[in-house]
Amino acid sequence: MHGLFHQPLPPGQNLAVVLQVRDHGESDKIVTLYTRGLGKLASIAKGAKRSKKRFVNKLEPFSLLNVQLATSRSSSLMRLDEAELLAPYPALRQEYPQYLAATLLCELVLHWTREHDSDAELFDLLTWALSGLASGGEGRRTIAFFHIKLLEILGYRPSFDGCLDCGMLSAQKAPYRFSPLRNGLVCNSCEPAFSANSLPISMQTVQLLRKAQDLAQDKLERLRFSKGALLETLALLRRYDSHLLQRELQSWNFLC
Ligand SMILES: [Zn+2]
Repeated sequence: MHGLFHQPLPPGQNLAVVLQVRDHGESDKIVTLYTRGLGKLASIAKGAKRSKKRFVNKLEPFSLLNVQLATSRSSSLMRLDEAELLAPYPALRQEYPQYLAATLLCELVLHWTREHDSDAELFDLLTWALSGLASGGEGRRTIAFFHIKLLEILGYRPSFDGCLDCGMLSAQKAPYRFSPLRNGLVCNSCEPAFSANSLPISMQTVQLLRKAQDLAQDKLERLRFSKGALLETLALLRRYDSHLLQRELQSWNFLC
C-alpha cells in the first residue's frame, strides 16, 4: 500500500467524515457524520437539496469536512450550519473497487460506534484508511488493517497468542480454528470437532495477524499478506462482525 495519510490533521477544527447521506423532505438532507470531537452523530442540513452555494458537492459519502454544528431545541438531530471541504477523495467515487472498500469502512464505523461517543484515535484511523484508499491503496489490505486496529481501539482485540485451552501455538496442534464466541483460537487437540461458528485459520495467517496487531498503524504497509492469508483474514473479521454486531454488513458481500 502506498500514499497513506501521514500528515497530522489540522488542529482546532471540527473535523468530520461523512458516513451516510439521505434526502429529507423537499429540501433538506440528513447527514450522518463521524466527528473527531463528538463521535458519530446525525445532523440535518437545511436547504441542502436546493442550496447552490452552501453545501454544493460537500455532502458526499467519505468526504473529510470541517463542520459547524449547532444543537436544536426541537429535534434530537444536530443542525449542520456550515461545511468546508478539506478532502473530497474523488477516487473513492470514481473507481469501483475503491468505492466498495470505502463503503465498508464507513459501514463498519457506523455499526461499531455509538452516537456521541467520541474517539479521536478511531477518527484518525478512518481518515488514514480513506486517504490510503483514495491514493490507490489496495481495498482488501486496507480493510484488513483498518479492522484489526478498530477492534483494538474499541477493546475487542481477539487473541492469537495460542490455543485458549492449552495455551500452545505450534504446527503440531494445527489446524487451529478461530472462535468468535470465545474471541480467540482453539487447537485441533483441544477441540477436534468443529464447533458452531468457528472458522479454520492457517498458521501463516495467525502469525500475520499477530504481527499486524503489534505493529503501529504507520508501519502496517510493511506487512505482506498472501492472497490466501488475506482472504482468510477477511473471512475471520466478517464472522467476528456478524457475531458481535448481530447483523450482516452488506458491503462484505462485494469484497470476499
Ligand atoms: Zn489446545
